[in-house]
Amino acid sequence: MRTLVILTGAGMSSESGIRTFRDSGGLWEEYRVEEVATPEAWAADRNLVLRFYNERRRQLMDARPNTGHLGVAGLEKYFNVRVITQNIDDLHERAGSTSIVHLHGELTKARSTKDPSLIYDIGYKDILPGDTCELGSQLRPHIVWFGEPVPMMDKAVEIASGADIFAVIGSSLNVYPAAGLINYAPEKASLWLIDPKEVQVPVDRDVEVIRKGASEGVRVLIEKLLAIYGTGN
Ligand code: NAD
Repeated sequence: MRTLVILTGAGMSSESGIRTFRDSGGLWEEYRVEEVATPEAWAADRNLVLRFYNERRRQLMDARPNTGHLGVAGLEKYFNVRVITQNIDDLHERAGSTSIVHLHGELTKARSTKDPSLIYDIGYKDILPGDTCELGSQLRPHIVWFGEPVPMMDKAVEIASGADIFAVIGSSLNVYPAAGLINYAPEKASLWLIDPKEVQVPVDRDVEVIRKGASEGVRVLIEKLLAIYGTGN
């Protein structure tokens, strides 16, 4: 089977009712990212940060995967699909995708502020001030904040390097290092991009652009990939 690597961003979940970030004038659900998604924000006002992610988690509980997520999962019938997502939601999992790397962390997990290897599944429950890990330190969201290292990047680079086909869905390709992953796709790989708006792709190669939202865009992508590669990969 050919390996299809799919890098997704906030636009992937937009049709599930979860707002993107750039489309809201740099605000994330009415908050400035500096206030809620940085280590400095955590140091300055951890109650606000916890509240922000608690709200995101509750919103996620009521959201559903859209046709785009379902289409990505369905592609596993024909390709070895590896999803690399910048999203912190769990909509790819709930749609049925089986290989997912979360570059920027996961809303449904909490982690120790003392030992980052202590990570806990919390589902859609809030993290409250005073909730602690087994070492007694405050729990924080298991999220990579702006300005923090991206521990899953090495894994993502390895996956991107094995692509026969590399598709970006719903990412403005503004946030690094994630945006640079497309450069690791081998020369022979075909490159695809689904986004309703124009996106500057940081690669000097041909990219097949499908200028549509995620649901419709994935439908078109499936049609095109099956026309090129057939169903018996
Ligand atoms: P971004 O907000 O910078 O860009 C979103 C892109 O999605 C834009 O190019 C936009 O044109 C496109 N888009 C809008 N509607 C779309 C649709 N219906 N279908 C397909 N594409 C659509 O997103 P980013 O590049 O992922 O970077 C934002 C950062 O913020 C990420 O690191 C991410 O972790 C975080 N974030 C996550 C979520 C989430 O988990 N769902 C939501 C907002 C922000």
